[in-house]
Amino acid sequence: MERNEPSRKRLFIGLLCGTGLAVCAVLALVWIVPYIGLANIHPLVPWVLGAFFAAAILLVLWATLGLAISVALARPFLGSDHLRGVMAKVFLPLMTIFARLFRLSKSRVRGSFIKVNNEMVAAENRRYDPSQILVLLPHCLQSSRCLHRLTYDINNCKRCGQCPVDGLISLSEAYGVHIAIATGGTIARRIVVQKRPRLILAVACERDLTSGIQDTYPIPVYGVLNERPNGPCLDTRVALPHLEGALRFFLVNGEAQNPLFDRFAGLAPLGKPASALGGPR
Ligand code: SF4
Repeated sequence: MERNEPSRKRLFIGLLCGTGLAVCAVLALVWIVPYIGLANIHPLVPWVLGAFFAAAILLVLWATLGLAISVALARPFLGSDHLRGVMAKVFLPLMTIFARLFRLSKSRVRGSFIKVNNEMVAAENRRYDPSQILVLLPHCLQSSRCLHRLTYDINNCKRCGQCPVDGLISLSEAYGVHIAIATGGTIARRIVVQKRPRLILAVACERDLTSGIQDTYPIPVYGVLNERPNGPCLDTRVALPHLEGALRFFLVNGEAQNPLFDRFAGLAPLGKPASALGGPR
């Protein structure tokens, strides 16, 4: 038994009792306030509470309308460019609960969130030096038969061309951007802390992209969904031309460079919204 186990237990019991008592206090207030009547507590209480709730309602309406209109117009509206974090951290969890009422899957909600997030990131219209961009990849892009360990250094790849990692390294070399592979959220966070990127181009599934966008806020993340022909997390793929298009869009002088993957050439002229880059659908 660990020596500090009793103190951990005490901490747990303390937190549990504190939380339980706080919930009881809130429940008691919910019952007692309407029972006594706000005006009987103090004549000003109804007005103060009314002003508080009116301000809160206005704030929620501004955030909702600003985000909805900016998504529809594909450009910032009513200061909505400052609301990317609110959308990711507040609205998305609530929207996921709300969507359950209509039997919409989490995956669909996350997919639409990623698309809207990409449009907002592109609408900021910022350009970055190669050293400021990190291409972050999931481990499942590596061939399941490959014996080389890439998590700590992607350059351990022998470039045999049996999986997309080879092409992705070529892409990072051609444009001079950072590239790394993460096996999970913790390693991804560590890579972000080490590289300190100003923009992340992340490849992953809906779930991991969504949590990555939430975790790394305020760093902008442009998400590219991986393809899963063998099911989740096994020998996944990514459309390299799509990733290259996004890179060329965000890089300073990116359009002046020759595309590595010709299939994409001419498909995404600069200045188009991210949807023109074929963002996640
Ligand atoms: S390209 Fe690299 S990671 Fe992919 S199978 Fe070959 S050596 Fe392994």
